[in-house]
Amino acid sequence: MARIVMKFGGTSVADLDRIRRAAARIKAEAERGNEVAVVVSAMAGVTNAMVQLVRDAANLADLREYDVVVSSGEQVTSGLMAIVLQSMGVQARSWMGWQIPIRTDDAHGSSRIEEIEVADMERRFREGQVAVVAGFQGIDKQGRITTLGRGGSDTSAVALAAALNAERCDIYTDVDGVYTTDPRIVAKARKLNRITYEEMLEMASQGAKVLQTRSVEMAMKHHVRIQVLSSFEDSPGTLVVDEDEIVEQALVSGIAYSRDEAKITLLRVPDQPGVAAKIFGPLADAAINVDMIVQNVSAETERTDLTFTVSKADLERTVAVLRGRQEELGFADLLSDHNVVKVSVIGVGMRSHAGVAQQMFTALAERGINIQVISTSEIKVSVLIAEEYTELALRGLHTAYGLDAA
Ligand code: ADP
Ligand code: ASP
Ligand code: MG
Repeated sequence: MARIVMKFGGTSVADLDRIRRAAARIKAEAERGNEVAVVVSAMAGVTNAMVQLVRDAANLADLREYDVVVSSGEQVTSGLMAIVLQSMGVQARSWMGWQIPIRTDDAHGSSRIEEIEVADMERRFREGQVAVVAGFQGIDKQGRITTLGRGGSDTSAVALAAALNAERCDIYTDVDGVYTTDPRIVAKARKLNRITYEEMLEMASQGAKVLQTRSVEMAMKHHVRIQVLSSFEDSPGTLVVDEDEIVEQALVSGIAYSRDEAKITLLRVPDQPGVAAKIFGPLADAAINVDMIVQNVSAETERTDLTFTVSKADLERTVAVLRGRQEELGFADLLSDHNVVKVSVIGVGMRSHAGVAQQMFTALAERGINIQVISTSEIKVSVLIAEEYTELALRGLHTAYGLDAA
């Protein structure tokens, strides 16, 4: 007997037929004698529709109420799943985040899980009951409903697996594993049998939405064994593992992209000590995350151009904050561009091999793609390019690093 967590994403519970299909998998696991906790997302498209409703209701909605609205999709799915399981003869009940409870901080809209109390659920397991948990939601100290950020059901599942000390956390989705890059864009993308936590973390944080970044962080910290697999096919998925469990290590194991980038350039900024702090301080105060940064070298000594990226959603606010301080900061003009994409190549093999970045620059140059900003870390190289080249760049890089499926 084992204890397992099974998570089903939005497309896997998109209608009653699919919920029934997922329920059949759950039933099979329960009948093998396993203790099963299921985590479900909202039905495909539901959360997006709720987010849009909140936006239409008010420009800057109270985030506590945003959470009340957008968390509701998961309530529907967990109830439906429990009903369907019961109709198949499986003992099951639904659990909302607040009923467990899944305690989070009060950063509404992207709360972090702090603690999960599982004693009640464990008692029900012993009675043979399957737990169907609404993903994406929790409760804060004030007793208010919180949500974990888009894609947060992955994190609900991993956190629950950690709290329950589960043997496995199976993430059922609409692809049959983690691929070398998004298989919806690159037809030659290859499924990986295994990927390291570190690479998966980097892939997720650079835009591969197959797992939410925080879920991978959490899995790494608590040694949760994640498996990503298809809810539609019976093929083995991808295991996320420690580095020493990987036999053959490719130099680059994956390529990710993020369209959620916007570029800002401040022209003719005074080139003096303290200027960067003066520019980025107010952005930090406004809770705006700055990602890539380059300071151009200028021919004259007193002035320089500064380019950086923020999330598309923060672009307008960023421009407003900086424009409001133009005189104090002393820049001549501000340019902004949201037609950009960040493409990143990722691989732990980079630690010990030079030339990965050069290969990337050459492959892009051969396709006439201009690089606007570059940033690197130990196991990743990222470039910012014009959004129209996304597919061309991904396919070209995929071939250049020898990742194409045969
Ligand atoms: P779910 O609704 O099950 O949570 P998501 O839409 O959040 O599913 O994540 C699955 C999607 O992630 C896939 O449909 C695929 O388009 C995308 N994706 C991006 N990069 C990758 C990758 N490297 N491997 C697999 N899927 C990826
Ligand atoms: N339903 C939420 C979302 O769409 C959470 C999730 O699916 O993981 O972001
Ligand atoms: Mg998801």
